[in-house]
Amino acid sequence: MRRPLVAGNWKMNGSTASIATLLDGIRSGLGAVKTADVAVCPPFVYIAQVADALRGAQVAWGGQDVSDQDSGAHTGEVAGAMLTDLGCKYAIVGHSERRSVYGESDEFTARKFAAARRHGLVPILCVGESLEEREQGITESVVARQLDAVIALEGVDALADAVVAYEPVWAIGTGRTATPDQAQDVHAFIRGKIAAQNGTIAGNLQILYGGSVKANNAAELFAMADIDGGLIGGASLDADEFLAICRAPDQS
Ligand code: PEP
Repeated sequence: MRRPLVAGNWKMNGSTASIATLLDGIRSGLGAVKTADVAVCPPFVYIAQVADALRGAQVAWGGQDVSDQDSGAHTGEVAGAMLTDLGCKYAIVGHSERRSVYGESDEFTARKFAAARRHGLVPILCVGESLEEREQGITESVVARQLDAVIALEGVDALADAVVAYEPVWAIGTGRTATPDQAQDVHAFIRGKIAAQNGTIAGNLQILYGGSVKANNAAELFAMADIDGGLIGGASLDADEFLAICRAPDQS
């Protein structure tokens, strides 16, 4: 039985003061979250603050990215070992903003996925198609290519210690959510593709949906058979909204 996971991606938002308020709000409402595992991914510079505030709470935390390198002369990079040092459980890799704005390829993303695992982090591998790709009818081949880059480098067994997030690029930060059926179709495709190589890994794999998830649409998305929670951007910056999303699996 897969446990749902709701992970907040704060992106490049917040300050010491606003994050303290957000963390207070999350901590105080966690008791009402029954079913989902909860995680937050702050900007790197605030991870220590998050670790201090959340120690002992039922919330994990993670990085929004991780270097493909382990240490040394890589100005601006953050190594997996640094994230584990700060108690991170997760590292997001291959977010569409990394892929499209910073030009990170499937192969580079796969190396980041490998680095996360090397340091004991659970990678949250983001995959998803652009609007143009959806309109061309190539959603499945795009998602398959993104998954295949990771499987080619790390093997399908690596997905036993990973999370996949399906995030259609056209739904991220746009207010335009995939319908539950649209999302379910791609989630089922992802699970089926992995099942063709290893049924147990596919059956246990948490596949999150991301893209304009809000409190008012989370329950219907998370009720779908192959949707195991969500990766939440904008709505994770408001404690009440985020907690309402975290409670959505309680209704399924
Ligand atoms: C994201 O950044 O991963 C995301 C899903 O953003 P939003 O929820 O704001 O669409």
